[in-house]
Amino acid sequence: MSKTNAIVDKNDQYGAHNYKPLPVVLERSEGVWVWDVEGRKFMDMLSAYSAMSLGHCHPKVIEALKAQADKLTLVSRAFFCDHLAEMYERLVELSGLPRVLPMNTGAEAVETAVKAVRKWGYTVKGVPENQAEIIVCKDNFHGRTTTVISFSSEEDYRTGFGPFTPGFKLVDYGSVEAVEAAITPNTVALLVEPIQGEAGINIPPVGYLEEVAKLCRDNRVLLALDEIQTGFARTGKMFCFQHDGVKPDVLILGKALGGGVLPVSAMVATEEVMNVFEPGQHGSTFGGNPLSAAVAVAALDVMVDEQLADRSQRLGSYLMEKLHPVLESPHVKEIRGRGLFVGIELKPEAGGARRFCEALMKDGLLCKETHESVIRLAPPLVITKEELDWAVERVTRVLST
Ligand SMILES: *Cc1c(COP(=O)(O)O)cnc(C)c1O
Repeated sequence: MSKTNAIVDKNDQYGAHNYKPLPVVLERSEGVWVWDVEGRKFMDMLSAYSAMSLGHCHPKVIEALKAQADKLTLVSRAFFCDHLAEMYERLVELSGLPRVLPMNTGAEAVETAVKAVRKWGYTVKGVPENQAEIIVCKDNFHGRTTTVISFSSEEDYRTGFGPFTPGFKLVDYGSVEAVEAAITPNTVALLVEPIQGEAGINIPPVGYLEEVAKLCRDNRVLLALDEIQTGFARTGKMFCFQHDGVKPDVLILGKALGGGVLPVSAMVATEEVMNVFEPGQHGSTFGGNPLSAAVAVAALDVMVDEQLADRSQRLGSYLMEKLHPVLESPHVKEIRGRGLFVGIELKPEAGGARRFCEALMKDGLLCKETHESVIRLAPPLVITKEELDWAVERVTRVLST
């Protein structure tokens, strides 16, 4: 039996079956490349759902990790540590919002935002107790905790996990009218992704974010943007909302913030929102730990120093252009993208994206289907033009057969 099969079998035997990975066992990496236990080399076109935007084992991030690991790794928030405020300062400078609350996973940062906007509703807006409503969008992905799946529209994410947390209203994504119709005096926030990543790189109509931002402002509703996947240069700006010139009240960050090394997330917000939290009212043992903070600071510095937002913008346009001929493929319905965040949507009769991802894997390119019918192309942002050409050649070949 091959090494790969032995490891896959052992996973099957002992692990929970909550994922269905492609049958490739990775053991080593550098930049956009990964190697499996058989010594085969692959290009990583998924980047761990954008958590690996800086490329595998970025030397500056790994250096920061190792240096901090030898000094101080965890103090809890009972004491201060030296790098956390640096992470705050950088996030404030980059986002234009004044305050930061650190957590670990994306879902925790979303939960933090839900708590914050509710409490803002009660203490600032004057919503009657336990009546706060949050507007969310169909096909959203905000994580896997019980409250977060309570407002998912995806049956797989919810079935069997109830009872659910009340207080959420689902509306169509991309519809300004739907948001307007859903607002009541008890609405405290609109929670939305500027581009829906997990749903298949769904880009809302031009002007959507600007118009819902205005609706929110006019109705005293907070605009909470989940940029866990779209943030940190993925779409060609440091944050996706910067394409639209809007100013969110709450910005939820994660994934790439941890430099592909550790789970680091944060809620960034206005003074008015963040000030709802007083000592003892929210927290996390590992949130904002010195190791995470040092890694995040290094990751943020790399994003700025290597101008990854511009790079994503430039190479994203190049990628879309190079992919244009793929539209001729009998399997392809549409190609959508912004920056290095691209989805190739297949026609229903193509029989799903999985088989194409398996074929791409055999050809050395690691992609993952999202929502059955979309192939997501989201390489590390440090990818070169030549490496993109290499990838496009394979995508074109696989989709033409
Ligand atoms: C990945 C993701 C999350 C959840 O992050 P976890 O770290 O997996 O908890 C939430 N929102 C969006 C938009 C995401 O892409």
